[in-house]
Amino acid sequence: MARNQTYVGARCIVPLLKNKNILIVGFGVTGVATAQFLINRGAFVTVADRKKEREPGSEALLIRDPRIKMELGAHRIETFEKADLIVISPGVPHTIEPVIKAKEQGIPVMGEMELASRFITEPIIAVTGTNGKTTTTTLLCKMLEDSGLKVFVGGNIGNPLIAYVDKQEKAEIVVIEVSSFQLDTIDTFRANVAVLLNITEDHMNRYPDLDAYAKSKARIFENQKTDDTAVLNGSDPVVCSLSKDIQSRKVFFSSKGKKGVTISDGSIISQKNISRLLADFKLPGKHNMENAAAASLAALAAGGTFEGVRSALRKFKGLSHRLEHINTLNGIDFFNDSKATNVDSVAKALETFEKPIVLIMGGQNKGSKFHVLRNLIDKHTKALIVIGEAKEDIMAEMGSIKPVEAAATMEDAVVKAYHAAQPGDIVLLSPACASFDMYNNYAQRGEDFCRAVEKQKKLIIDN
Ligand code: ADP
Repeated sequence: MARNQTYVGARCIVPLLKNKNILIVGFGVTGVATAQFLINRGAFVTVADRKKEREPGSEALLIRDPRIKMELGAHRIETFEKADLIVISPGVPHTIEPVIKAKEQGIPVMGEMELASRFITEPIIAVTGTNGKTTTTTLLCKMLEDSGLKVFVGGNIGNPLIAYVDKQEKAEIVVIEVSSFQLDTIDTFRANVAVLLNITEDHMNRYPDLDAYAKSKARIFENQKTDDTAVLNGSDPVVCSLSKDIQSRKVFFSSKGKKGVTISDGSIISQKNISRLLADFKLPGKHNMENAAAASLAALAAGGTFEGVRSALRKFKGLSHRLEHINTLNGIDFFNDSKATNVDSVAKALETFEKPIVLIMGGQNKGSKFHVLRNLIDKHTKALIVIGEAKEDIMAEMGSIKPVEAAATMEDAVVKAYHAAQPGDIVLLSPACASFDMYNNYAQRGEDFCRAVEKQKKLIIDN
């Protein structure tokens, strides 16, 4: 059968999958869902993953279906070159050698989000940005639900989009959190409403420079039409510089200046009404106001109601591991911001508080430039406790401006932070690093922090 045989489907060209040899690269949660989807359509599936262990939950699928072949460990170029189509999971760079070679042979390559979107007919709202994606996506979903709409929420938030396609129960609207990695492998993906929250330096171990990373983010608008909507952060210089090439209706929100959040035009909602809505929102920090404004504009552009948006804003309490207040011990407030894995999210956390901060930082360095935090660390902190692989790098940058102490474990860090703080201070875990040197993920790191704080509390009570 011809490799590129296709038919025109709902949104665009839908690839024919029956009896095709399809290679999935990356066998995580998304890879498993993609394999299931392809098998349902009668494809022959091979899954290649460099890691040797199988994804938990994949066994049942593998045993049930002999059409799935596994290639764990090193990639084999021949497998890539024999495929009719290659589908890449979001965690896998599209620049790995076997993928480039296959592309040179004319083999189509697409990401899971691209593949899924070709089968989706419902309106799509997509949210991207360096920080705030999960918070904004979650809030946006609640706004639409409170407006009486049936919503599917997925993508980078941990629920693969491909899993939606075969669901019996259809949503009226699909909301997806989108990473730059997913945008690297799109072709026809189109969001009816696309949100770009901010662009600051991150993932510098995967992109050559900020410009390349920013261009990847801007692809969220690439296939928008004039009747689609782009919601953009007008306070972010990188976002503003990218906005001139966007074809759709552009609506900016901005937190510059003293008036709270302002919007560029009243076509979706008047300035007076957005200010009324945001007055009901309780999460701390200017950055959360930006998230709330972006979610409100996107929800209203997608058919949400003023009352639905207001109700969600009033109820929203924030998410775990994002500037989460977890306890107060002897007048010292402890905040878990384990999801702050880059310097800008730490900057936003520091700017949120007026009280002196003892900051726990460190983990696996993603190529971050810690020195950009020097002024804020000087202004807002009284001491730093550093952990993980990056501790020497951080010490070298910050040792001359504040007392910095190294800790061997999270428990050690919490004890040291507690002793460095006084009543009225804040102890903040906001690492500016990935967690993989010590943990499986940021959530495990945040939970370890909470456990250590709980232990410290018991110690205080027992004494
Ligand atoms: P993402 O999904 O993009 O990682 P999250 O909502 O999970 O975003 O938040 C990740 C981190 O970024 C947290 O530390 C959070 O406090 C911080 N953050 C949230 N919104 C913003 C924003 N608009 N700008 C900068 N930092 C933010």
